[in-house]
Amino acid sequence: MFNHYFFRGAAACSAYKKFLSHTTAEEIILVMDPPFGGLVEVIIHTIRRIMADWSCDTNDGRELPVFWFFPYFLEHWIVKGLPSLRMLHYKVDYDNHVLYHKGSRGAKHGSPVRLFTNLPPVSIKLPQEEGYRFCAKCQCYVPSDIDHCNKCDACTSKDGRQYRHCDKCQRCVKPSHVHCDKCNQCHLVDYKCSDGKVTGCHVCGDLDHKRRDCPNRNMKKTKRPICKRTAVEISDGDITEDSSLDVNSGRQRKKLKKCH
Ligand SMILES: [Zn+2]
Ligand SMILES: [Zn+2]
Ligand SMILES: [Zn+2]
Ligand SMILES: [Zn+2]
Ligand SMILES: [Zn+2]
Repeated sequence: MFNHYFFRGAAACSAYKKFLSHTTAEEIILVMDPPFGGLVEVIIHTIRRIMADWSCDTNDGRELPVFWFFPYFLEHWIVKGLPSLRMLHYKVDYDNHVLYHKGSRGAKHGSPVRLFTNLPPVSIKLPQEEGYRFCAKCQCYVPSDIDHCNKCDACTSKDGRQYRHCDKCQRCVKPSHVHCDKCNQCHLVDYKCSDGKVTGCHVCGDLDHKRRDCPNRNMKKTKRPICKRTAVEISDGDITEDSSLDVNSGRQRKKLKKCH
């Protein structure tokens, strides 16, 4: 995944090429669930390479569809590297992981893992019974208990909580953050900003807290999950609002399960 290496040599490589050359955008999707410590730039390099192989083999004008499971706080780097990707609000739970699931023993705000995709977000229907609703302004599914921010014109929550709009920062911020006039941005109340400079967090890259305050500081200490229960299913045909991907749909052509 990181170096596009084929363990079974030329035969495996030609099987890969043959598979790519016979698939249309409706029949293929690149699913990646890499270790969360993996470098975003390297993974993007591999995705771009597979995208190039596919479009060169098929002459399909569209981009190879991608599903990439990764933590929400790396969104900035993912979208910067592959601007066609959008982060969905769906919290991806893992049955066999100590942190990435909901419930009393899971992470404080539920799993930080999200799905990044270049398919239209409107086409991926998130289940109402798991607490999602459709936001017509964003044209995507969002947690039902968060409001659309009219100033940002988006459902701005990243971690699943309702964010608060700060007029001074001109963006929505986490509910636990307050505006600091010293460094002219919002951060945690007990964050010690020195000389008005914020150097940011070494764990998740956020500028509004330091490593010791990082809600995700345990990420690198934990082992990655082995297998995920949640399956995302794709319905037949062109993706429109009517024939959308439905996590609960009975009409499935492909069932994508994460297993390593
Ligand atoms: Zn919205
Ligand atoms: Zn806002
Ligand atoms: Zn400050
Ligand atoms: Zn602010
Ligand atoms: Zn952090």
